Amino acid sequence: MPIDGSTKLVGVFGWPIAHTASPAMHNAAFGALRMNWAYLAFPVDPKNLGPALAGARDLGLVGVNLTVPHKILALEFVNEVDPHARKLGAVNTVCIENGILRGYNTDGYGFARAIKEEFNLSLKGKRVLVLGAGGAGRAIAIQCAVDGAARVFVANRTLSKIEPIAREFASAKTAFKALPLDSGELGRVIDDVDLLVNATSVGLAEGDSLGLEASLFSPKLFVYDIVYRPAETALLKIASENGAKVANGLGMLLHQGVKSFELWTKRKAPVAVMRRALSAAIYGESK
Ligand code: NAP
Repeated sequence: MPIDGSTKLVGVFGWPIAHTASPAMHNAAFGALRMNWAYLAFPVDPKNLGPALAGARDLGLVGVNLTVPHKILALEFVNEVDPHARKLGAVNTVCIENGILRGYNTDGYGFARAIKEEFNLSLKGKRVLVLGAGGAGRAIAIQCAVDGAARVFVANRTLSKIEPIAREFASAKTAFKALPLDSGELGRVIDDVDLLVNATSVGLAEGDSLGLEASLFSPKLFVYDIVYRPAETALLKIASENGAKVANGLGMLLHQGVKSFELWTKRKAPVAVMRRALSAAIYGESK
């Protein structure tokens, strides 16, 4: 649809943001449904997040996605926080209606949906080892508890950063244990793990590796890396070479976007169109 005087606008704030594939995914969806909407990427310095969100409201945007490094900071700048986003401790989707900014989190949903799709695995009753305790690690660990996982281990390079996540588990039915991010320590619990998730940012750069030992991986383990570029990270390579079932984070990115689309437009998202557009934008082809 050509942009005109009644085009509805949504977008993503990040810093940096040039690498984002979200405009390709959402604009393909608007095109497929012949909706007069457009999705843009905005480089927003974290020190300007408050004014940028107020600007989005004043300019009449319908909503925005927030990516690194805005997701936690945004809790301060929205007028209302959806209870699930509050629990996950981060906002990645803002809906703007009648001048009110309401924050949501669709990352946890995107993760759970991707695990189901990739592995036909429900989190209920599962034992999950999450590597990483940043925004994504926290959202995934807490989503596991919300979905009834039996046990969650969180391993992080900086052990103290697991504390806020551990506090969320104090009243949960899901058992919780914090671990250092070290092959020896992980080796002591790996027999009690069904699903291992990399939620650190390690894997993004060529040759970037957590250096985990091959002995941690076996055919009974599912391994999900939320990094999706490159398609096969060093973690996924070593895991699949040792028989584990593996998938990268494209599905999580897709399904968090699907949920954001549905929150803004109140219409069912064209998932297949969005998946093809995302894959083409990231890998240069439809996978
Ligand atoms: P974040 O809040 O900055 O957290 C980064 C995490 O990575 C921390 O746990 C950090 O450990 C760890 N880390 C960084 N460098 C490390 C290293 N050299 N060795 C060991 N651990 C290291 O970032 P985030 O928002 O959680 O995002 C993490 C990654 O997930 C990013 O790559 C992001 O693009 C990706 N992501 C993907 C999706 C998706 O839809 N697929 C969604 C959200 C995020 P310390 O605490 O010790 O620093």
